[in-house]
Amino acid sequence: MTIRVKRDIYERQRQQMLDNHLIPRGISQMQVLHAMLTVPRHIFVEEALYSQAYNDCPLPIGEKQTISQPYTVALMTEALKLDGTERVLEIGTGSGYQTAVLSMLAYKVYSIERLSTIAARARKILDGLLCSNVIIRVADGTTGWKDEAPFDAIITTAGSPQVPSAYIEQLKPGGRLVIPVGPEDSQELLRITKKTDGSTTTETLGGCRFVKLIGKHGWGKS
Ligand code: SAH
Repeated sequence: MTIRVKRDIYERQRQQMLDNHLIPRGISQMQVLHAMLTVPRHIFVEEALYSQAYNDCPLPIGEKQTISQPYTVALMTEALKLDGTERVLEIGTGSGYQTAVLSMLAYKVYSIERLSTIAARARKILDGLLCSNVIIRVADGTTGWKDEAPFDAIITTAGSPQVPSAYIEQLKPGGRLVIPVGPEDSQELLRITKKTDGSTTTETLGGCRFVKLIGKHGWGKS
């Protein structure tokens, strides 16, 4: 999927984001760096925040939700090990920024957002970028997306007290799940790989802090 982006005055800032934050912190996969250099993060936040869009920090997107910091987006994307052929499930569309990055690196992105206003805003921005390989659904994503399963990769961009079992069930053998798990105020970013016999291996990618995954198998019922 090629994102249609007009040349803009923020190109230099995106390059600096790579040079000052992403590359020094260990992001090395060329396709991921290319996507981070291409997707215009500023258009996913309100205009008053454009000047902060390429700082390595989360920013508010309304409804008490945040757009993740660029390093976290790059780290989680790299951890999914995408080669362009994958069908990816994303839980927590939010601003749609992570979705746009995924859309450049995967075959198709299925993204679930529980808040309809947030989902509609993301849809509009992604349509503006001609991200035609993205489907957004408004629902509680803690039960996954059964009708479209199994997925090659699943990414959850909200913090959960535990790993919802549907995510493991809906992964293909060899598939990767990247998810922040732990208490409300700090989580561990996990990569869980499903083996061909159905068992899993878990790697820890570092500490992080996400907004809550709210739903039946997250932080209570939505
Ligand atoms: N990757 C997004 C992060 C958004 S914040 C970005 O960079 O913009 C996390 C999002 O997850 C919020 O929009 C929140 O509404 C959503 N969310 C929380 N619980 C959810 C659930 N059970 N199903 C779907 N979306 C959920």
